[in-house]
Order: sequence, then structure tokens, then C-alpha cells
Amino acid sequence: MNIYYHPLYTYGIDSNSSFPRERYELIRNSLEAESNNGLINFVEPIKADVRDIYRAHTKDYVDRFLNSKLSNKEIREIGLKPWSSAIVDRTMFLTGGSLKALEDINNGSPISSNLGGGTHHAYKDKGSGFCIFNDLAICALKAINHYNFKKVLIIDLDVHQGDGTASILSSIDEIFTFSMHCKKNFPFVKQKSDLDISLDEGLNDEHYIQILKKSISKLEAIDSDIIFFQAGVDTLKEDRYGKLNLSFDGLSFRNKLIYEFSKRRKNPVIIFMGGGYSKPINKTVKAFVELFTFFSDYSF
Ligand SMILES: [Zn+2]
Repeated sequence: MNIYYHPLYTYGIDSNSSFPRERYELIRNSLEAESNNGLINFVEPIKADVRDIYRAHTKDYVDRFLNSKLSNKEIREIGLKPWSSAIVDRTMFLTGGSLKALEDINNGSPISSNLGGGTHHAYKDKGSGFCIFNDLAICALKAINHYNFKKVLIIDLDVHQGDGTASILSSIDEIFTFSMHCKKNFPFVKQKSDLDISLDEGLNDEHYIQILKKSISKLEAIDSDIIFFQAGVDTLKEDRYGKLNLSFDGLSFRNKLIYEFSKRRKNPVIIFMGGGYSKPINKTVKAFVELFTFFSDYSF
């Protein structure tokens, strides 16, 4: 499995930002330290082609971001402050990583992944909640409009709703958006995905898995020829923004359910990283290392 990763994923965020930027590098180092039987291959992405970004965002917003012309209010809504001078390059590499993962699938890989992205809060004309461009929407639109995919299924299990993704893709019949998230959590105004499951605060493994299994049985009726998994681990009990109570075992079981569901329907999968903010960050790192390791032998 290819994992796209660039040092700017970490170093393109200012060291004074409250965002745990070190998580990317720590996950990479930890995955590299394990042998993984040669199943994991780190690849440096190239910057995204702006024409792919225009598929999901307004030209005005994209161009103002690229030319450092966003207002203070727009920057505040995104966060990651103070912005480093490398924020534009970082964003283009991060989005590029997801686009390269999509290209891998188009070239016949059953699995590919980005050690970043899953930036599901970005809307057509604005960023939000650490998200500048919505790589899920960008890749989904490219999959159906440029490549020959017929139906994209986006499974978003980050603890926060995929509001930007739902909003950008609401009128696109070829893309199905599923978000399972904590009700009383950011974003406080939710958008309408094709399937939304909102969870009570404090939910534990047993109830979470029960609800996920029921949701997957609904997804069985949806056609798809490619699956995007926004695999945020901020549902973990130790997460500082999460409000759910999943253990490592609960998360592993979640991953297994998505793996088996995708395999049953013989769909290729792209892993988009998503959120994870435990403090200290080591629990989040462990959860992501387990996720990438688990999916690294995926085939169908
Ligand atoms: Zn999140």
C-alpha cells in the first residue's frame, strides 16, 4: 500500500500552533520502524493541480487562498494559526497526496492512502475546522468526471460531521456521503449527508459497534465501485475534541468492519486520515499506526 506523506504535513504548520502537527511525522516514523513485511511504501506526493481543486471549490476562494488574500475572519474559521509561510505549499502537497492515492486506484491498486487529508469541513467557498480544501470532494468529483468510476461511497467515521463534504456533494447522484459522528460536537450546524448517524456523547465500544453494524447494513443497498474512508480516530476516549469513549479495541473493530464491507463488494479503498488529537499525542499516533497497518494488506 502506498502512503503519501510529505515533511510539510508537519512542518508546514507553525510550531506555535495549538494543532498537534507532530502527529504526521510520528506516525510515519513509527510505521517505518515496524517491518510491515514490505506492505507499506512511503511516497512523496506532488502538489495538486489547481484545476482539480476547482472541481469542488469556487475559483474566487481557491485563488485568494493561493495568493494569501484570505481575510482574518476566514483564517480564524480555519484555525491552524499562526499561519506559517509554508501553509500554501503544505495544502497543495496534502491535497496532492489524496489525488495521487486516487490515481493509484485508477491504475488498478486495490488500496492507497494519504497520511493526511480527510479535510471534510471545507466548503465550496470557505475553509473551516483545520480544513482548507476538501480533498474528499475534490477526489470524488475527479473519480466520476475525469476517471471512469460510476459511484463513489464516502464513509466518514471521524467524530465530527463531514459537513463540507455533504454540502459540496449534495446534488451529485453518483456520490453517496455517509457520516457517523457525535451529535453535540463541532460543527454545531450540521449539513445533510445522504446518510447521517448522530451519536450521543460518551458512547462506548459496544453501542458504537452495534450502531455501525446497523448503518453498514443500510449501505449494502448502495452501489459503489470505489470507497473513500475518512478514518479519523478522534472517537478515541482520550481525544481532546472527541466526546466519545472508544477504546483501541473498539477502533480496531471499526476498521475491520469497513475492511470486510469493502472486500465483500470488491471495491478499492482510499484511506484519508482525518482527525485525532489526544494529549499527549501518543494515543492518537498508536491508533493511526494500527489503522494504516491493518489496511496495508487489503485486496479483493
Ligand atoms: Zn474530527
